[in-house]
Amino acid sequence: MAGKKWRFLLAALVAAPAFLVSCAQKPVVGEPTLVLISHSQEVRLGDEAAKEILKTERLVEDPELVKRVETIFERLVQSLPPEYKSAYKWRVFVLDKPEVNAFALPNGNIFVYKGLVDFVESDDELAVVLGHEMAHVILRHAAEKISYATLAELTGYLLLSRIPPSQQRIAADLYALGVNVAFLLPYSRKQEKEADIVGLLIVMRAGYDPEAAVSLWEKMLQKFGSQEPPEWLSTHPASKRRLEYVKKVVQYLKEHPEVVKQFKIPKELLELE
Ligand SMILES: [Zn+2]
Repeated sequence: MAGKKWRFLLAALVAAPAFLVSCAQKPVVGEPTLVLISHSQEVRLGDEAAKEILKTERLVEDPELVKRVETIFERLVQSLPPEYKSAYKWRVFVLDKPEVNAFALPNGNIFVYKGLVDFVESDDELAVVLGHEMAHVILRHAAEKISYATLAELTGYLLLSRIPPSQQRIAADLYALGVNVAFLLPYSRKQEKEADIVGLLIVMRAGYDPEAAVSLWEKMLQKFGSQEPPEWLSTHPASKRRLEYVKKVVQYLKEHPEVVKQFKIPKELLELE
């Protein structure tokens, strides 16, 4: 992205205190986080991105396949605590692409590729992937990515100049930045761990088998571990370490059903390696 766009956005963040919702508490995790955009802004970013994607990408037309994905997704959504159910525009789309891939937009729209639907061997495994992507939304990971990237640039910008841009430019650039950052920057290892845990909470609340996470990652590791990984795995590394980690989380959650019920991650679970 052009440096100019960054500067406009950064100026916007300086000029418009309404954008600053800093030092929020991260949902479900409960730790402090940096989120510089509001909930309604992140939802709008997702809406914009979804519009663009649906304009350019083809959806799967096989009604049986779509129904299967939607049914699993709906069951996961219904299992969420009410505040998370209503805060997002939960919807799943199946893109007609062969890659083993899936991603989430911050408005609650989840995109799963046909290649991934073909790759999984059970509804439970598909639920694990969908739950993981839903967790990224609930944890506001896209907003967090944008915020940390912005903060890094903001420091530089403040040293340069303070020319206020027009409000229109701000909105346009915010969308551009949000969409770009949401797609281009990988989630951090910490975010991935959080999404693994919260994804499993969702899966278990919906009554799916959490062991499917273990079988899914075993299969990913077997198939892609030693070769050029598909897109999803470049941000979701299928390493032996991750598999061992997921096993530990599943074990912990099976022994602590109250954590699944409360939908709050205790510190000791967050600290698992
Ligand atoms: Zn992820």
